[in-house]
Amino acid sequence: MKDIIKKVKNNERISIEEGLKLYDLNLLELGELADNIRKKRYGKKSYFNINRHINPTNICKDTCKFCAYSATRKNPNPYAMSLEEIVNIAKKAHLNGAKEVHIVSAHNPDVGLNWYFDSFKLIKKAAPNLHIKALTAAEIHFLATQYNLSYDEVLDKMIESGVDSMPGGGAEIFDEKIRDRICKGKVSSAQWLLIHQKWHQRGRQSNATMLFGHIENRYHRLEHMNRLRELQDKTNGFNAFIPLVYQRENNYLKVEKFLTANEILKTYAIARIFLDNIPHIKAYWATSTINLALIAQEFGCDDLDGTIEKESIQSAAGANSANGMKLEDFVDLIKNSGFIPVERDSLYNELKVY
Ligand code: SF4
Repeated sequence: MKDIIKKVKNNERISIEEGLKLYDLNLLELGELADNIRKKRYGKKSYFNINRHINPTNICKDTCKFCAYSATRKNPNPYAMSLEEIVNIAKKAHLNGAKEVHIVSAHNPDVGLNWYFDSFKLIKKAAPNLHIKALTAAEIHFLATQYNLSYDEVLDKMIESGVDSMPGGGAEIFDEKIRDRICKGKVSSAQWLLIHQKWHQRGRQSNATMLFGHIENRYHRLEHMNRLRELQDKTNGFNAFIPLVYQRENNYLKVEKFLTANEILKTYAIARIFLDNIPHIKAYWATSTINLALIAQEFGCDDLDGTIEKESIQSAAGANSANGMKLEDFVDLIKNSGFIPVERDSLYNELKVY
C-alpha cells in the first residue's frame, strides 16, 4: 500500500489493481489523497452551472432493467412532447437564467428523426447563446440503427442542428457480461466509446458517466474507468467523469445490497486519483443526494452539476431531484460547506465566483 500511496502523492498513474487496493484504505486517508489532487487543481472552488434538464419523451424501444424512466408496466404514463413544448421549455429556462439545456430522451421509434434535429434547430434559433447538450451515445446509436445512418452522419447532423456538446449517459458499466444483464440490446461499450471518439475528433467535448451500486463489483468500476482513461489519452475530449449512484425504485433489476455512503465516497475518491487525465469529477447530486454531494467535495469531486430545474430520469427511480434546486439555495449550500461556488459554462469556463 505504501508504494501506491507514494505513487499517488507523486502524481504517477496507477493501475487497475492499484486502484482496487485503494478501496482497502481508511476512508479519511483515501479522501485526503483525492482531496490533495483536487486542491492542487482547483483550490476550494466547486463548479456548477445553471441548467435545465429536458426529457422530451419516455417511450422507449429498449428495456434496460435498471430504468424507471421509460414507460412500462411499472410506469405506465407514456409521453412525447411536441416541438413547440420542447422549445418553450428551453426559451423559458433561458429567460430564467439557464445557460444550458441538457436534453436526453428515451429511444422512441415513433417520433421520427426530424423531431430530434428540428428541436435543436428551433432552440438555437430562439436562444442562440443557450448551450445545447444533447443526445447520449446510446441515443445516437439508436438513431443510427433506426434510420439506417452511420454514426458519422448522425454526429454531423447534430452539429448542423446546433448541438454543442454531448452528455455522458448510456455508458452504464462497460463490462460486457454485466452490461448484458442490465441493458442488453442497447449501445455496446465499444460503440459508446467509438461514438465519443468520433465526436471528440470533430473538436467537440463530452462527459462520461458510470452507473454503479447495482450488480457490478469494484473491479468492473476500475475497468470502466480504465477504458475511459485510454480513450481520453487519445482524444482529450472528456470534460467530466460522472459516477451515477444506482437508484433502486420502480425498476426490474433485483439488487440485494445497496451502497453505503462509505463505498460511494471511496469510489469518488478513487475516480479522482485514477482518472488523472479527466479534468473534472462530478458528484451528481440528483443520484447521490445533495448532502452526500456536498461531502464528496472533500473526496475529490470539484463539480456538483447544476440547478437542473426539473429532472425526470433519476427521480422516476426514487431520487429527490424532480424539481431541481433554487440557485440561492445551491450557492448557500456550497458556501456553508466551506467551498467557493463557481458558476461555469458547459465547457467549464468560469462565469461567476460567488
Ligand atoms: S435507460 Fe434509456 S434506453 Fe434504457 S430503457 Fe431507460 S430510457 Fe430506454
